[in-house]
Amino acid sequence: MTTNRNRSEQLYEEALEHIVGGVNSPSRSFKAVGGGSPVFMERAQGAHFWDVDGNKYIDYLAAYGPIITGHAHPHVTEAIVRAAQNGTLYGTPTELEIKLARMLKEAVPSMDKVRFVNSGTEAVMTTIRVARAYTKRTKVIKFAGCYHGHSDLVLVAAGSGPSTLGIPDSAGIPKSIASEVITVPFNDLDSLKAALEHWGDDVAAVMVEPIVGNFGMVMPQAGFLEGLCKLAREYGALVIYDEVISAFRFHYGSTQTYRVFPDFAAIEPDLTAMGKIIGGGLPIGAYGGRKHIMEQVAPLGPAYQAGTMAGNPASISAGIACLEVLREEGVYERMEELSIRLTAGIQEGADRYGVPLTINRIRGSFSTHFCDHPVTNYAEAQETDSEAFAAFFRHMLDQGICLAPSKYEAWFLTTEHTAEDIERTIEAAHESFRRMAN
Ligand code: PLP
Repeated sequence: MTTNRNRSEQLYEEALEHIVGGVNSPSRSFKAVGGGSPVFMERAQGAHFWDVDGNKYIDYLAAYGPIITGHAHPHVTEAIVRAAQNGTLYGTPTELEIKLARMLKEAVPSMDKVRFVNSGTEAVMTTIRVARAYTKRTKVIKFAGCYHGHSDLVLVAAGSGPSTLGIPDSAGIPKSIASEVITVPFNDLDSLKAALEHWGDDVAAVMVEPIVGNFGMVMPQAGFLEGLCKLAREYGALVIYDEVISAFRFHYGSTQTYRVFPDFAAIEPDLTAMGKIIGGGLPIGAYGGRKHIMEQVAPLGPAYQAGTMAGNPASISAGIACLEVLREEGVYERMEELSIRLTAGIQEGADRYGVPLTINRIRGSFSTHFCDHPVTNYAEAQETDSEAFAAFFRHMLDQGICLAPSKYEAWFLTTEHTAEDIERTIEAAHESFRRMAN
């Protein structure tokens, strides 16, 4: 039992005085799971964390996705050390950037040209600018519940009805910007069609997480991505895949070449945004697409995008090293095997103690939805039991299992989780359900 978190609590009090909300990203706060102090971690190795009170945890947060090779993986660490010794930022091009660009292009064939940026937010934001520059249109269609970073345009959630002009999710976003975004439900081609029929001539891009990671893990239903691409193109809009989570998460490549499920026909988008895993745990983003579209970007074209830190040798080296690990034989199969065992064990515990639970698993990642119905879109994810998730989260944390503090976030396996970690986690899950049932 890891109940003593006194030092974390002290640090949280201190952090609150100096850092807004005590955290540098709102998703790290415990607001969505009943509040209180988040755990302050001190060190991480492989699939494990140690907090400032000396408690050990099995990590399924994986820093919201990037840490797929586990913490401080020796190959990645060595690459970072080498980069640090050679200088972390030049402000000039380097050969390393070409190497990572080539690796991305080989794995994601729809990208003729790539540009590195510093975060997923930047990558997505720029794909929209490029799409607008290319099509000379302004509106963007997105899907409810898909998160695309925190730039103004994409911080717009669903309105009611099959499609609607957006309402800003965040204060500080002018209505004029929100009115450029149309939100429709995921897995719902009729709504997309209706939106395109209404606004089609003004739509620059249809943007989607092709496999959703932000209202749990949700697969596109058979035909959805094909239909989406076909409809978008019929109306002259570009298709943007936000693969910030999904690139290199399920296999060595992106959703575009992912054919593990028989029904899944991968269609190539016009532009792709990436981040997370491709930086091996250091800040990165990248976007890319067909040559004639990417040539809109400065210095070749009129769409401006720049970055002092972009393509820095440390992030690029970490990214290359991470992809080298992922390219090894059997890496994804092993994560999937462990995750099959883990989800079966968790589901068995929930069933035993009568706790309604739906698990959406895609290879080595999954989400736990406290409900007794399938979750295929955002509305269904919203309907799940937030209090049950919060209770589960806290019982798991007390037993040394670190999950993301939100019912919408996924569990991520890494290459470093072991069968022993999985059995320990299943035991903790059973105990959590037992406590919830009492
Ligand atoms: N797109 C998706 C699908 C994401 O999940 C995220 C972050 O979680 C982003 C974009 C934004 O990336 P970043 O947090 O690196 O800015």
